[in-house]
Amino acid sequence: MGQIRLMDEPLSNKIAAGEVVERPASVVKELVENAIDAGSTSIDVYLEEAGLQTIQITDNGSGMDEEDALLSFSRHATSKISNEHDLFRIRTLGFRGEALASISSVSKVSLWTSDGVSTGTTVEIEGGHLKKQQAGALRKGTDIKVSQLFFNTPARLKYMKTIQTELGHIIDLLNRLALCYPSIAFKLTHGEQVLLHTNGRGDLQQVVAAIYGMAIAKKMIPFEGESADYRIHGYASLPEITRASKNYLTLFVNGRWVKHYSVQQSIVNAYHTFLPIERFPLVILHIEGDPYLTDVNVHPSKQQIRLSKEKELQQLVEETIRKSIRSVMRAPEIAEKPKKVVAPSEQMDLWKSRPSQPTSAPFQPMQTFNKRPESLMVKEPMEAVQSSPDTFIEQLVPVSSKEPFPELDIVGQIHGTYIVAQSSDGFYLIDQHAAQERIKYEFFRDKVGEVQANERQSLLIPLSMHYSADEAMRLKEYANELEEVGIFLEEFGPTTFIVREYPVWFPKGFEEEIVKELVEQVLTSRKTDIKKLREDAAIMMSCKRSIKANHYLTREDMIKLMDDLKQAEHPFTCPHGRPVIVHFSTYEIEKMFKRVM
Ligand code: ADP
Ligand code: MG
Repeated sequence: MGQIRLMDEPLSNKIAAGEVVERPASVVKELVENAIDAGSTSIDVYLEEAGLQTIQITDNGSGMDEEDALLSFSRHATSKISNEHDLFRIRTLGFRGEALASISSVSKVSLWTSDGVSTGTTVEIEGGHLKKQQAGALRKGTDIKVSQLFFNTPARLKYMKTIQTELGHIIDLLNRLALCYPSIAFKLTHGEQVLLHTNGRGDLQQVVAAIYGMAIAKKMIPFEGESADYRIHGYASLPEITRASKNYLTLFVNGRWVKHYSVQQSIVNAYHTFLPIERFPLVILHIEGDPYLTDVNVHPSKQQIRLSKEKELQQLVEETIRKSIRSVMRAPEIAEKPKKVVAPSEQMDLWKSRPSQPTSAPFQPMQTFNKRPESLMVKEPMEAVQSSPDTFIEQLVPVSSKEPFPELDIVGQIHGTYIVAQSSDGFYLIDQHAAQERIKYEFFRDKVGEVQANERQSLLIPLSMHYSADEAMRLKEYANELEEVGIFLEEFGPTTFIVREYPVWFPKGFEEEIVKELVEQVLTSRKTDIKKLREDAAIMMSCKRSIKANHYLTREDMIKLMDDLKQAEHPFTCPHGRPVIVHFSTYEIEKMFKRVM
């Protein structure tokens, strides 16, 4: 007898659930999308234990009659498409007809629904098996309750993260759905706590305010534009509002929240030269186009999308947003970035202006010039240059970092930026800013490693900070890590925090900035571990306090700086991996002047 059997429906649904129902947030997504597809103007989401215990969604949409109420739980049962042709003209969020079947196979579901014409229907399903079906008077709309998610799939349950993480995903989702549908009043409640409430009046800026706060909403400017195939509109932040990640770029295509790398990149390009490197704006972008151009049938979660006429859309997005930001810019536009000059060797980067943001370049040992760097060339007669062509091959030769710090005799300072020093084997240029960054970095690294309770000082005016509900959730989760680097957050209402104290050794005058930047670091990094946070904190603090370029130093200042640098554990590079000191050997200098051949 053959070995192959057809699976029964509960089993195949359970398997399909593996793809559609990854975590509580995926259940919320499917159910809220159903409520949206049903034409609701008010959608309430109630959760217990971040949805693992209870997810209850109440809508005022079309509801279902008795026959549909039962059918809706069958696999591939949908009212949204009926033939292949429809698949290319999808205007609804759902169309696969598998969400309810999948969800009810891995949880206990109760459904109350009425289309307002026939009597209402109550259905109860447990692990894919019908337990109860009953008729009775109900209001028009649907109420669906999912309890004990993954009760019969323990392996999946085991993979759930903390309550905060799961809840964070749901809040993020609801925030985006609310931004997508300003005409729907959304309410999200976790136990007693209301985490989001929008008024459904159709004003996108009011939704932005409900989520990101009024201060941000006021700094968002509207934009709209049109090309042959696409129409776009939304809100874009003024360049003074920046974030450390692209997480605040929200894209919607025909009412669906999507992730699309190249369109996202067009938004970033629109801000080119307006924002510091590695900083990103806050943008809500609605894109509309013929559904024929947007293929959403790429993945069961329907968050990825394939777009036709992508170049046209990219151009529309970049130009529209750029134009609207430009129109409100107060300061004159910063000149376009100069065309990239090809450096003879990547290591020659140190001759370019240094980036304003930390990069994670590895530490490198001190470097020696044994060929003459172009930028140090004195203007001299052409023939002199031509007669020694080999000196144009710039090359930096790393010297072992184990090498002891050279005994230096200070000659002076040039350009208010570099210290010139000599020793028996040539001369040295020291970047004073990089040197101090290294010294401060090692100081703060040690301090941040052991925050002491008795080293605190009060802020004159306590700092109060407001965050969106999901951000607040994350901050509570990482409260201990933040304390370890000296950030003491006090909860003050569900989404507001107060900071009253900071460690005495925080760089003077930058206390508030440090608090805010470290909090943002936690909010935007994917994974926060204490080691990395300490490292980031130390780098951040060392940058704040270092002497900048164009700063005159007295001889005593320079001697002190060199003494401190000598004490450093790794004196040859700054915390960003750029060289602190470069060496011009006597031999090379003599070669330049043809004293040796
Ligand atoms: P899909 O949304 O892909 O069609 P689902 O399994 O999510 O598949 O839902 C199946 C069907 O149940 C939907 O097509 C719709 O007709 C009906 N339905 C589900 N939820 C609701 C709701 N909240 N209000 C009205 N009808 C609903
Ligand atoms: Mg659906």
